[in-house]
This record gives sequence, C-alpha cells and structure tokens, in this order.
Amino acid sequence: MSAAEPENNQSPSGCAPSSCKTCSSSSCSAHSRRAEESDKDFADRQKLAVRLSNIKHKIIVLSGKGGVGKSTVATNLALGLHLAGKKVGLLDVDIHGPSVPTMLGLEGRNVLATDDGEIIPVDLDGLKVISTGFFLKQRDDAIIWRGPVKAGVINQFIRDVAWGELDYLIVDSPPGTGDEPLTVCQTLEGADGAVIVTTPQKVAAVDVRKSISFCRQIKLPVLGVVENMSGYVCPCCGEHTAVFRSGGGKLMADDMQVPFLGSIPIDPNIAEAGDSGEPFIKRYNETATAKLLQEILKPILQLSIVS
Ligand code: ADP
Repeated sequence: MSAAEPENNQSPSGCAPSSCKTCSSSSCSAHSRRAEESDKDFADRQKLAVRLSNIKHKIIVLSGKGGVGKSTVATNLALGLHLAGKKVGLLDVDIHGPSVPTMLGLEGRNVLATDDGEIIPVDLDGLKVISTGFFLKQRDDAIIWRGPVKAGVINQFIRDVAWGELDYLIVDSPPGTGDEPLTVCQTLEGADGAVIVTTPQKVAAVDVRKSISFCRQIKLPVLGVVENMSGYVCPCCGEHTAVFRSGGGKLMADDMQVPFLGSIPIDPNIAEAGDSGEPFIKRYNETATAKLLQEILKPILQLSIVS
C-alpha cells in the first residue's frame, strides 16, 4: 500500500468492543494477518482496531501551517462537546508544538501507565487528555525524534491509551501535509473527517487548499473550514476591524466545495485564556466570540445525533 492510499477493507469502527480474536467478520481490515506483517504488528493492529471501535466519532483538526489557531480550535471544540454532555477525549499529537497542556492548565501533569502498558490519560473533570507535552522532562525540551519514532508515538497514543468508550476523540494534529499528519489520518482509520483551521490571509488560503487536497487524496472527509483571526473585535466597544482581509476562508471553502463552519475573530480573551490555562469556551461562555464557537460546534454535535 502506498503512503497516500487507504485500504479498501471495511473500517474497524462499529465492531463489538471486545477482542478482535472473538470477531468473525471477514470483511474487517483487522481480521486477517497481512502477508508482510509480524506477529507483533498484527497484534498491535488488532489492538488499535478494538480501541477505535470504542470511539464513536473521531475528528482530526488540521491546518496548513502552525500558528493559525489549530490547538485553540481543537481544545475549545473538545471542551464545547464535553460541556454539551458528551464523553470526549482530546489527543494532542502536535509533536513539535504541544500547547494543549498550557491551554488546559495541565502543565507538569504526569501520565501513569498500568502494568500491562496501557497509558492512563489525564482526567480534567471527565475530559480525557493526552499530549506529547506530558512526556517532556522539561517544558522547554525540543523533540528531535526521527520520522519512524514519531510515527510510532502517534500510533501508540491512539492504540495504547485507555480512552475507554468515547462519543468523540478530537485530535490536534501536527500542521502541514507531511508524514506526521498522514500518520495521524491513517492511524485513525474510519475517522469522521477533518476540521481545517486557517486564517484570512491569501498565503494561509494557499496552504489550506493543500490540506483539502491532502484529505481528498487519503479519502478523509472534510467536515469544514474554520477561519480564525478573522478581524478584531474591540473588547470595549465591540467594533469589528478587518486586520487581515476577512472572508477568504469562506470564498476558498465555496470554491473547493467543502463546508464553511464559521469565523472566529481575534479576541484578546482567547489569547489570555490560552495562556492562563482556563479554556475560553468555559470561562467566557456568554461572550459573542463564544457564541460563534458554539455555532461551529453545531454540525459536529449533529454527528452524534444522526448516528
Ligand atoms: P496552532 O495550534 O495553529 O499553532 P495556537 O492555537 O497554538 O495555534 O494559537 C497560537 C496563539 O494564538 C496562541 O497563543 C493562541 O492563544 C492565540 N490565538 C489563537 N486564536 C486566537 C484568536 N482568535 N484570538 C486571539 N488569540 C488567538
């Protein structure tokens, strides 16, 4: 199988939350061993299939490049779903820029493992969180793993974490369209789709087009595009100023025929909430910007209503 080609077999999602060894579905991609596969690789793939079968909806948050607000959107989406009463996991595999621990006030938290090697996610009032950041000895450590190690870590964070039964797993993916996001998307076989975050500038729109093409190539549905930092709303008078030319995200989404989920303005409270570890959607839930985030959340919440 080439890197960008998904398998044709049926997705493992939807099978019984039991061991693969008891399943008799011959159409499941995890049922039979591949010719080139070692015993360990086959066992790992079956373990992954069982893990994924316990998660109803998997959503990957992507961006063409860093700094556009991908982690902000991923964190607030996960919390918004959690506040709506859903069972949610948040996986931050933005290996070189894991900001979720800071955004959720979880810096310095230790992750425990069971005797049989299962990783226990950090519990934030019921929201289950795993981030590469939890595994750094020092906050300022840089990750200099080579490609195969990164792929192994991404795989392990999905396969070996005791996610339990979830309504949603929100994944904060590494930016771009390279090996790392590809590994995330391929490991999450049968994911519902991607939410792509962009900013209004033309250069960002070029990158997001690449992200949409990337999703199409690997047959990952695009749930929609979010335009972040779309103008500035004055916290005093509420006046909206277009810092960059706004609306590019919507035009691009229409042009590429993918849904547009909405725009989020530059809001100093988002930056402050991200830095202080008190998530925006929780702390500022009555503000106009929080209402825009709630609108973006609606089609994602709808996924669990229709299925
Ligand atoms: P990425 O994950 O794409 O690298 P982040 O979500 O980490 O980006 O955001 C980068 C910085 O910008 C963070 O400090 C975050 O708090 C801030 N930020 C993101 N979106 C907004 C916004 N709409 N208004 C104000 N600050 C924002």
